[in-house]
This record gives sequence, structure tokens and C-alpha cells, in this order.
Amino acid sequence: FANTRDLLETAALAYGDRDAYVEADGSRIGFADWVARARAVAVDLLARGVGKGDVVALMLPAGIDYAVCYAGAAMIGAITTGLNPRLGPLEVSGVLAKAAPALVIRDEDLGLPPVPAGLDVLPRSALPTIAPSGIAVPYVPLGRSDPVAIIFTSGTTGLPKGAWFDADNLAAFSRSAGVMSAPFDRRLTATPFPHAGYMAKLWDQLVWGIALVASPVPWSATRMYEVLRSQRITVGGGVPTQWAKLLDEPGVSRESLPHLRVGVVATAPAPPELVERTAARLGVPLVVRYAMTESPSICGTEPGDPPEVLFRTVGRPQHGMSVRVTDDAGRPVPTGEIGRVRLAGDCVMRGYWREPELSTAAYDEDGFFVSGDLGRFTAEGNLQLVGRTDDLYIRGGFNVHPLEVEHVLTEHPRVREVAVVGEPTPVIGETGVAFVVPTHADSPPSLDDLRRWSLDRLADYKAPDRLVLLDELPTTAMQKTDRGRLRAYLEAHPA
Ligand code: ATP
Ligand code: MG
Repeated sequence: FANTRDLLETAALAYGDRDAYVEADGSRIGFADWVARARAVAVDLLARGVGKGDVVALMLPAGIDYAVCYAGAAMIGAITTGLNPRLGPLEVSGVLAKAAPALVIRDEDLGLPPVPAGLDVLPRSALPTIAPSGIAVPYVPLGRSDPVAIIFTSGTTGLPKGAWFDADNLAAFSRSAGVMSAPFDRRLTATPFPHAGYMAKLWDQLVWGIALVASPVPWSATRMYEVLRSQRITVGGGVPTQWAKLLDEPGVSRESLPHLRVGVVATAPAPPELVERTAARLGVPLVVRYAMTESPSICGTEPGDPPEVLFRTVGRPQHGMSVRVTDDAGRPVPTGEIGRVRLAGDCVMRGYWREPELSTAAYDEDGFFVSGDLGRFTAEGNLQLVGRTDDLYIRGGFNVHPLEVEHVLTEHPRVREVAVVGEPTPVIGETGVAFVVPTHADSPPSLDDLRRWSLDRLADYKAPDRLVLLDELPTTAMQKTDRGRLRAYLEAHPA
């Protein structure tokens, strides 16, 4: 296919009234009607002066209208970006300033902060709902390298950055999906629609005729279980805490979810215990995906991989991708050694939107994107992630990767959740602080418990030096542990 519009029209013909989207309340749309509504939106956008190369920002919940607007914009070469409904006012104005949209399509009831003055806003209620029959979208020349989507990062390490993608990227994601995509899959989309987990998969959905079923908002394990069952989901995706909560639901079993073909854990490390428990309980292979906004496919495990691969690594580079582990200067380090993860290939973004300097700095001289993650390759060629460059701390001259310590502490019976953060201290540089949510609030672990647990399993300098008990870990809009807020806590409450 030369471009996204041609693929949309072909999918409408090929898949007709098959489910394209099902919302959590059961409302649905087939492929043909989706594309018909998209044509109406495309014509409406053109009438409003929005055309090729313009950005359309969606402040809409995950669901049919979001998908209709994305497809409608793509038909005329407009570029879609979405705002995560959990963003706060500063993030919303920051993201909109970077995206510079020609039009904001906004659901007034979503509770998102107001749009800064001066931007054109189309309320969701004014979207064309019924496609006038025989509507034709005026011809707009489109190619494969025209931008289609801007996807903002999670903002774990700072303000969100807008990674942009063209149709060639979207085609590449479809080729790299591996076990995650099969014809007529029914896929639960656990991520908010503005995220790469949805935005980058448009071509994948159109190529395979995949039905997307929106994850319930607000999310709960009970509602997720209900959707998995009633919608006959074949591919279930979720961040680790969502899988963990689902497994605690009464009745969840292989028998109650007979259609489930594969489970996917993505976007954050999965504790081995969770991976194991999910596989045992649901009887389906659980695969891991290593992905990031800037490259929505990187590495993955596949069914049939031996347990040590499934539990300890994020697998091998996916189709079209090459991955290097290097020293600071970009030279590959020997197998087994920890280094910086760098990636190149068809799935890597074209750049950060309207950020030329940031874009140039993101790639090394070989054109590899510097991911900010640290990892090592096993002898079999599987990648192990050990944390982010920014999270690493140095205790008395020794590197500590918080993720490794967290994996160990999380297995302590009195620990429900844990995050380890380095705290600057005068004598040994940095020391480790364990922020712990106890399994039972009335019997939390002591620092001594955790130190002994750690000393029995890891090098002595990795044992935490300080314990802070919390009711819950702070999270970002993408539900990841917000280490920035934990660091801020340490600044306000030094040891
Ligand atoms: P920002 O770039 O704005 O600071 P972010 O990096 O958290 O935020 P995302 O692009 O959503 O935004 O997340 C990508 C990151 O998530 C990766 O760089 C990696 O650190 C982490 N990650 C992704 N998949 C996995 C995985 N399977 N296991 C461990 N970590 C993962
Ligand atoms: Mg990042």
C-alpha cells in the first residue's frame, strides 16, 4: 500500500461489517462504517481548513470516535496526536505547545484541563456522526514518508516528547508484531489510545482485520475480566500491575477464558513471579515486549521460548530491528556485559516533532537511537534490561541497578510493591532507599528484614540502606512508578 488512506479503503471493502472497535459498554463499529465515518470527518476537516501536514490533537477517550478521527485525519494527510486523559494542566499546555495543532477535537466531559486560548477547538458533540452516502474525499497526494502520527512519551524522565512516524513506520510495526497479530484477532487495548500501543498499530489492525476492544475506563480487574470473557478476547495486553490484579480476581482460569491465545506484558519490567503465575493460571503463553514510544517495536519473546528466556529477558530484536549494547562512546561491549541499549531499524521514529536539536542528539553517528536503557545480551542473543541510565546509582564506587534489587525485594513475603532509588549522601556517594508498599499494612517489613533478604541473594552493596513505607507508589500518567516524585521526597526528607 502506498499510504494509509488506500489501506483504510481496502480494509473497508475486505472486512465489511466485521468488528473494528468495541467499547467497554458494548457499543461497536464495523470496518466499513468506521471508514465511512472517517471520510465524513476528513471532508469536515478540509472544510475547516485543516489539511495535509496539519496536526489534529485528540482529547477523546479510547474508543470509536478516537479511531474515526485518527482515520479521517490520515485520509487527507493530517497528522494525529492524542493527549492522555490523565495529564495535568501543565502537561496539557506543554504537549499542545509542542504539537502546535491546527485543531483540537475535545470531549468536554473527559475532565481534561482546558485548552490554552488561541487554539481552534471542535467539541466531540459536533463531529459528523452519520456518513452522508456517497461521500467522496477530495484527492490529496499522499506518500509513505508523510507524517501520520505524533506519539508523546510517558514523561517518566521529564516533559513528554513527541515522537513522529510515517506510513513506512506503521507498515514496519505490522511486520514486526510476531505472535501478537493473527487474522481477525480480538485484541484488548490496555493502553490509552494516545500511546504507541494503539497509535502505532493502525496498519497492523487494518492489514489483519483485527478488532480492538477498549480497556474499561476507569480500569478495574473485575471489569477487565468481564471484557476478556464477554468479548472473546484472543490477545490480552496489560502493564504488569494490571495482570497481577487480574490474577487475583476470583474465577479467572483457562476454562473461563477459552478464547485467549496469548498474553502480552509490555512497557515495564515484569517480575518473574508474575510471568510464571500468569502462565500457570491462564494456560496461555505469556510473551514480553520491549518497546518505547520512540520505537514501538524493539525486542520480544515468542511462545516456545524456554522459561529462563521468558522470565529473565525481553527476547530478541523484532523483524526489521537491530539492537546494540555499547559503552558510552557507542562501541559494542562483549556479550554478557552491561551497556547502553541502542537501536536502529524500520520501527524507529523519524524524529521528535518540531525539536530539531533534540532529534539530532537522539541518534549516534551510526544512526542508532540511544534509548536511555541499560541492558546486556545473553549468549543466546536475548536482551536483558537492567534499568535506565538515569536510575542507576553508585554506592561506594559500585554500580547498583535498582531494577535488579527491586526484583529481589519484591519476592519478600511482606513486600507488595517496591521501588529503589539512590539518595546522595556525603560519604559513600549514594545509598539505596527502598520505598515499600507492605503486603499487610499492620505487619510491614523492617529495614533489617529487607537487608538480610537482599544480602542472602545479592552483593552486599546492593542491600538498601534506608526504608520508607508508603500506602502506594506514586505513578505517572502511564501507570509507571514516578521516580521523580520519590527523588523529590528524599530531597524534602533527607536521611
Ligand atoms: P520519557 O521518555 O518521557 O521519560 P518513558 O521512557 O517512560 O518516558 P515510554 O516510551 O512509554 O516513556 O517508555 C519506554 C520505556 O519503558 C523504555 O525506555 C524502558 O525503560 C521501559 N520498558 C519498556 N518495555 C519494557 C520491558 N518489557 N521491560 C522493562 N522495561 C521496559
Ligand atoms: Mg523514554
